[in-house]
Order: sequence, then C-alpha cells, then structure tokens
Amino acid sequence: MPGMDTRERVALVTGGTRGIGFAVARRLAHDGLAVGISGRSPESVGEGLERLRKEVPSGRFAGHSADARREHDQRALIAWTEETFGRLDVLVNNAGIGEFASVEELDPERFRAVVETNLFGPFYATRFAAPLMKKSGGGFIVNIGSLAGVNAFAGGSAYNASKFGLLGFSESSMLDLRPQGIRVAAVLPGSVATEFGHSHGSRDYSWMLSPDDVAEAVSDLIRFPDRAIASRIDLRPSRPPKR
Ligand code: NDP
Repeated sequence: MPGMDTRERVALVTGGTRGIGFAVARRLAHDGLAVGISGRSPESVGEGLERLRKEVPSGRFAGHSADARREHDQRALIAWTEETFGRLDVLVNNAGIGEFASVEELDPERFRAVVETNLFGPFYATRFAAPLMKKSGGGFIVNIGSLAGVNAFAGGSAYNASKFGLLGFSESSMLDLRPQGIRVAAVLPGSVATEFGHSHGSRDYSWMLSPDDVAEAVSDLIRFPDRAIASRIDLRPSRPPKR
C-alpha cells in the first residue's frame, strides 16, 4: 500500500487482563501488533501478561497498572506506552464495570464509579493518546460500548448513563480527530460470556457472544483503508433465547 508505515504497529488495550480486553489483546498480537495492556493492579496485569505470552508465544507484550478512573494514571499510561514502544497506533478503550440496581437503591458512590470508569476513563485515555498518535501520522481509537448505550433497561441507570455517554463521546471525538488521521469507532456488543457484572450465580452462556467475536470486530475495524471510517458496529448474538 503506498505510504504504508511498515514498522511494527502498537496497540494499547485498557482492561486487557481478562474478558473482552484479553481477547482483543490476543487477537491484535495474532494480527502482528505489539500490545500493551492495563488493569487496576500489578498482580492482575502480571497474570494477564503471563497468559498472553503463553497463548501467543510470538507476541510482543507489556503491561502497566493504571486505574481508568484516574486522570493521572491515564496520563502516565500513555507516557509509559511511548517509553516502552515508541509509538501508539491503536487504543482500545475497553476497561469497564457494571453496577445494576434500581435508581432508588443505587448508592451514589457506585453510580460515580461506573461513570468514571466507563466514560471518564475513555476520555482521559483519548485525550492523552491523541498527541502521541499524531506523531506517527494517526491511528485508531476503538471504544467498547454496549447495546446498553442505545437501549435502556430497568436497573441500568448507572450503566446506561455511562454507555449512552460513551457513544456520544465516541462520535464527537471521531469528528474532532479525523482531520488529524485518527479514526474513532465504537463497538456495541450485546451480552458477552465473561465474568462481567455477575460475580455469583450460574448463567446460561451458551447463546451469548464470545469475547473473540468482539476481538474480531476490533481487528476488522483497524483494517479499513485510509479513506474510510467504520465508526460503529452493533454486535448481536444471532440466537438469543426466545422471550
Ligand atoms: P470483565 O469484568 O471480564 O473485565 C473487565 C476488565 O476491565 C478487566 O480487565 C479489569 O481489569 C478492567 N477494569 C475494570 N475497572 C477498571 C479500572 N478502573 N481501571 C482499569 N481497568 C479496569 O468485563 P468484560 O470483559 O465483559 O467487559 C469489558 C468491556 O466490555 C466493558 O467496557 C463492558 O462494559 C463492555 N461490555 C461487556 C458486555 C458483556 O456482556 N460482558 C456487553 C457489552 C459491553 P482489572 O480487574 O485487572 O483491573
């Protein structure tokens, strides 16, 4: 491809220690990118890295603990990415949490934690990553939203607010950043079989999307030719249970 930069491309996946973020990190390494991951603790990041290195022995991985809720941590995460890899081509804003309770019962601290993680986190990372991406001529930012960002449900006030907000943020930052060669997209999955939001109880995961399906969508998005931005993918399970 004319003008194609042949140096190893670099991805950073927030919340890459498990679940969807882990699958995205693994997939991008298979695609030939060097991959950085973040998570809240050095332990979880270390465990994620160990698994990634085992599953993709040819991959180049590094990790850094950084809380998505903290501006300082996100600034430091991007600085670490530049020091470690020298560049950033793909940022995947994936770190996220869910708290589900009726608005009358939802503790304000839990509401704050969800919005700070799922909305402020991607803002901070985007804000600090954009100047680094510009140094190498542009890049991709993929925000892992949710169909809960377009469909509200009872008990979802914090999560719905965060993901509706994230979609608005994703679209407006796409408009802000495309003149500089940074293409922003959102992937909106339906239910994915991970530990997310369900620390106890047994669930039927058989009909759900796999984290690898989300990883496939991210991998597809970053292969679009220069001319085009696929700015949103709605990803649904093809055989949900009948209601
Ligand atoms: P998991 O609970 O399996 O994983 C969450 C990941 O986010 C972990 O790697 C965790 O890392 C990280 N994380 C959580 N809070 C923070 C924080 N404050 N700072 C940094 N990292 C953090 O969830 P999923 O993989 O299922 O979800 C990933 C994303 O996908 C979320 O944004 C979620 O909203 C979205 N999504 C999930 C769906 C589902 O059904 N599972 C459906 C649609 C969207 P650590 O614990 O190491 O800090």
